[in-house]
Amino acid sequence: MPRKLAAGNWKMNGSVAQLSELSGLGHADIDVLICPPATLIAVAANAAETGLMIGAQDCHAAASGAHTGDISTAMLAEAGATHVIVGHSERRADHAETDDQVRAKAEAITAQGLIAIICIGETLAQREAGETLSILDAQLSASTPDNATAANTVIAYEPVWAIGTGLTANTDQIGEVHSHLRAHLTERFGADAADIRLLYGGSVKAANATEIFAVPDVDGALVGGASLTAKDFRPIVDALAAS
Ligand code: PEP
Repeated sequence: MPRKLAAGNWKMNGSVAQLSELSGLGHADIDVLICPPATLIAVAANAAETGLMIGAQDCHAAASGAHTGDISTAMLAEAGATHVIVGHSERRADHAETDDQVRAKAEAITAQGLIAIICIGETLAQREAGETLSILDAQLSASTPDNATAANTVIAYEPVWAIGTGLTANTDQIGEVHSHLRAHLTERFGADAADIRLLYGGSVKAANATEIFAVPDVDGALVGGASLTAKDFRPIVDALAAS
């Protein structure tokens, strides 16, 4: 069984003062990760208690150079990040990121010795057209590097229609996708794929966490809105640890 992971994505929210929300979030039995905005990574990593890891929400694929406004994986590692989210649907939509770019970023992340959290997910129109599994297969194939292992890669299934909307995929939908993704990874990577963690993301909250974590092949969650406060995130961490 892979070690479970509760990951929080603060998106463009948070301040130094709000880092007080990280107090007491760490857990001995599961991995707990918060990805704050880039400006807060170093201060959060310096202050993080045992059992809490700090990650980034994006990176550039290049090691250095003329890329104004971008941040390399070496810079993120120096700041104290252990994980980097790539391919979040908001970046795919807002910045027109392609699978090829996501894969190049994931390669840079793993080359730096960090863990890539690669996000994939279908839109509502794609789900309604019956294209969910084929869309996810295409994204997973093209966004995941050939050197992906359970140690350097996490996959997050995040249906676009469930992110920040209050809508959550039901447990049958999550179960169908996660078992499909596990089979896809096993075909490509062999036995090691059994330990590549598969996170679900999309309006996870305390009220639905326990039923989502009971779904086979759900190894944790990527949480947006409900990761911003300890009051909301701690029960999700506890539900995952108890699952
Ligand atoms: C996310 O941003 O990855 C996410 C799942 O957001 P939310 O939990 O707010 O839907």
